[in-house]
Amino acid sequence: MGVQIEALFTSALGLQAPWVVRDVRLDTAKHRIDFDVECKQALLSCPACGAASQKVHDRLPRSWRHLDFFQYEAWLHAEVPRVGCAACGKTTQLSVPWAREGSGFTLLFEALALVMCQDLPVRQTARALRVRDKQLWRRIEHYVTEARKKQDMSKVRIVGIDETSLRRGHDYVTVVHDLDAKRLLFSTPGRDHQTIQAFAQDLHAHGGEPTAIAHACMDMSAAYLKGATAYLPNALVSYDRFHVVKLAGEAMDEVRTEEWKTEQARVEEALGHLTPKQRRSILWGMRRNPSGWSNTQTEAMHWLQRANLKTARAWRLKMALREVFANARSHNQTELAGAELRAWLSWARRSRLEPFKRLAATLKAHFESVVRGMLDHRSNAFVEAINGLMQQAKRAARGFRTAANFIAIAIAYLRLGKLTHLPASPFVPATALSAGITRHRV
Ligand SMILES: [Zn+2]
Repeated sequence: MGVQIEALFTSALGLQAPWVVRDVRLDTAKHRIDFDVECKQALLSCPACGAASQKVHDRLPRSWRHLDFFQYEAWLHAEVPRVGCAACGKTTQLSVPWAREGSGFTLLFEALALVMCQDLPVRQTARALRVRDKQLWRRIEHYVTEARKKQDMSKVRIVGIDETSLRRGHDYVTVVHDLDAKRLLFSTPGRDHQTIQAFAQDLHAHGGEPTAIAHACMDMSAAYLKGATAYLPNALVSYDRFHVVKLAGEAMDEVRTEEWKTEQARVEEALGHLTPKQRRSILWGMRRNPSGWSNTQTEAMHWLQRANLKTARAWRLKMALREVFANARSHNQTELAGAELRAWLSWARRSRLEPFKRLAATLKAHFESVVRGMLDHRSNAFVEAINGLMQQAKRAARGFRTAANFIAIAIAYLRLGKLTHLPASPFVPATALSAGITRHRV
């Protein structure tokens, strides 16, 4: 192609001296465009020690995948000089300004892939960009690690600590969130008290102060309480609504399972006239809010409420606890919330339902922290939302059995970490784009 075309692509690619486009080859049949880029200078500064005007020792051919050019897959090729330095005696390869050392993608291509992975499953991104998904995982790992190193945690005061399983039923990880900034701060395998120690160390490494954490919102595990007491010594602990109500739901399920298994005659007497479908509806109706009941569930729950069954009492207890939490949020008074919770506890203790008696004992043992959680508006909605987002991160990492945990964590950071040092999207206004590529110049 003509000289002007090469000059045009030199600036379109954001190249600056000593790099220029020497040749452009367009293959319409293969849907491919290849750019040969060169650095002709025979003398260069030594990349290792900076000594000026050193001789080029040799040139090694390299290629990089770049952003598509219209419908054509674009590639950059260059013979990269190695400088033989008389000052330091080393032979060092020049870094190219458009790519990271050792990467076969240009920086802009990597930036695009990263931006896409924030919204799409990695496999889908890989397919859209026509690369292998393994190539993307490695880059996500790299950029997330680098961006996390620079993450500032000096203003973190309120944290939410939670456990989640990356694969169903096993491989637990602990996640810690900044509840003010609503971002994922930290994640590590396991759910023992040492995970909190690991968080405190990571916080410190990012400019934060474990003693400055004023408030920790968590589930009712003894391990987290032990960890928070030891490593976040000034944090007031609160137990969030989401987890407490979940415990009540589990107690309710336990009562129902037990009763339907061991007292079939009574259950038959009360609900025998229902169809199998209606009986199944009871299961789901009990777990849902009445406002979300289907017609079948409304009908089935009508019969449950009239039945003289432990299951019905368990459901009423769970609903009453939800109510106590909802009231606390609307009136927002510690004493009133405490009084209502105490009333519920005394009902649960007298319920003759073992799982609820146990739950009442647990809540009583952590009374102040439970009440604090009832009135805490910061954590509740966020903890529920984050749970859903973690599931999405898991799905995005699906199919990578060996490294699935690690990948899910990296994806979670990428999507929920609000990392401020990730590469910017290449599709931002033109001035910012050229700033983007020159920013990485060596
Ligand atoms: Zn040198």
